[in-house]
Amino acid sequence: MTMDEFDVVVVGCGIAGLSAAITAQRNGARVAILERAPFEERGGNTRYTESFWRMKNADQVADDFEDRFAANAGGWPDPGILRDAVRDRENQPAVLRSLGIVDPDLIATIAEDAPKALKWLEEFGVTFDYLPLYFLSQSTTRMGPIGGGLALVEALGGYIDAEPDRFTVLYETAARGLIHDDSGAVAGVRAIGRGNKPLEIRAPSVILASGGFEGNPEMLSHYIGPQAQFIRPVSRGGHYNRGEGVRMALEAGAAPCGDFGSFHAQPVDPRSADIEPVVLNYSYGLLINDAGHRFTDEAPAMVDASYEVVTRIIMAQRHGIAFAVFDAGLDDVDNWQVTVRSREAPLEADTLEDLAKAMQIDPGEFSATVAAYNAACPDAAGFDPLRPDGLATQGLEPRKSHWARPLLRPPFRAWPIICSNCFTFGGVKVDERARVINTEGDAIPGLYAAGEVVGLYYRVYTGATSVMRGAVTGRLAGADAALRRNTPR
Ligand SMILES: Cc1cc2nc3c(=O)[nH]c(=O)nc-3n(C[C@H](O)[C@H](O)[C@H](O)COP(=O)(O)OP(=O)(O)OC[C@H]3O[C@@H](n4cnc5c(N)ncnc54)[C@H](O)[C@@H]3O)c2cc1C
Repeated sequence: MTMDEFDVVVVGCGIAGLSAAITAQRNGARVAILERAPFEERGGNTRYTESFWRMKNADQVADDFEDRFAANAGGWPDPGILRDAVRDRENQPAVLRSLGIVDPDLIATIAEDAPKALKWLEEFGVTFDYLPLYFLSQSTTRMGPIGGGLALVEALGGYIDAEPDRFTVLYETAARGLIHDDSGAVAGVRAIGRGNKPLEIRAPSVILASGGFEGNPEMLSHYIGPQAQFIRPVSRGGHYNRGEGVRMALEAGAAPCGDFGSFHAQPVDPRSADIEPVVLNYSYGLLINDAGHRFTDEAPAMVDASYEVVTRIIMAQRHGIAFAVFDAGLDDVDNWQVTVRSREAPLEADTLEDLAKAMQIDPGEFSATVAAYNAACPDAAGFDPLRPDGLATQGLEPRKSHWARPLLRPPFRAWPIICSNCFTFGGVKVDERARVINTEGDAIPGLYAAGEVVGLYYRVYTGATSVMRGAVTGRLAGADAALRRNTPR
């Protein structure tokens, strides 16, 4: 079947796709939306997130916003190429226009447009506020919509549902390939519906807003390596994101951007079926792998600023698993329960040997590890769980930099932790209009990317910026795509 009565096709209806579709429609476009999930599960990762935004207040992003992106700008790009960044984009050499880097212009656009996007969302009845999070204290400022990402999906999705004449939404329909015309412009999408039924939707603009490839084990193994077998999406929504958007754009010649070998890592309890069952109390205890050994500094900094790096080190362990181990001293930390979202009870025992057995770890190795750690702990005076307190181990490798207190008193408790994948970093390069840039540094006519399909992150995720990336790039893409509606097909 072929459908051709549209100006814009949007692939995906998370925050990026919904923002794009509504913006395009409000700018006069006839919009089709393709969504792999059924209606009840639409919204991908957005549906399950708490959707924190790295904001100081409703008018400004957090003070550290641009510094954090700069600190995580990736490898060591050639300064001889970067020096031309001072020119406007059209006059930059192609090698720079297509370079996969954290693009300062795009970061500046997101910083400037995030407050506008937040206020736009409030027009749909969403309220942003400073909401509690699973950290006891934070190294930055965050706001979020009351009701989380689900409130965003319901508010924007509700608008679309109320306008059936203006939006055609095809659920359980997955985009697979782009259609091009003879001029090299994008002219639509090939998709597959229930029962393996093929479908073509023709339109002069396509907005790829189908998330990353966190739900695609083949791409994860390809880009991340064999340890990818031990990670899983942090929410049900991630399973729907199988990377077709990224792949379609790359096949159309898009310049890759974002760190393909990495992803936003979160430490979760593998036993739990909860959404985002994080275990973030480990900096007050020890991390032990299944050989019974410590393998990393459990407390290099505040947990909200360091958990991603630590979690990736857990992924690198033999079976991609570790245990967060505590003695009764965990209860000295007021309110530590908010840092554990898993509702599975911890393993518990009165002796270290019995705890080792419950963890199925060699008791001798485990006891020796704890004894060496205990012997390296300083005097616990000055323990302060709410700030990096400098209580560091002495002469132990790897050291524990803060909150180092010996494990002596029963009950001993342990939570298993694996690395989960919130979303992947590998995507494509876009300009400030969310147009996809090809490997020659030029925009691909009619092709846009929004949300996770846009490559933005290297090294460590600048926390609480992915939903705002989706809202901002979605709105940019929708506005620009609508301008092409009168272009002859
Ligand atoms: C539990 C959790 C907590 C998080 N916390 C935060 C936070 O506090 N702050 C923050 O900024 N970010 C957070 N994130 C990340 C953030 O939620 C996502 O990165 C963001 O919402 C992605 O938006 P998106 O629109 O790009 O993709 P998604 O919301 O994932 O939407 C993609 C949509 O595309 C559909 N789709 C996929 N492939 C196809 C296809 N081939 N054809 C048709 N449809 C397709 C999917 O079904 C889905 O509906 C969190 C994520 C999770 C899961």
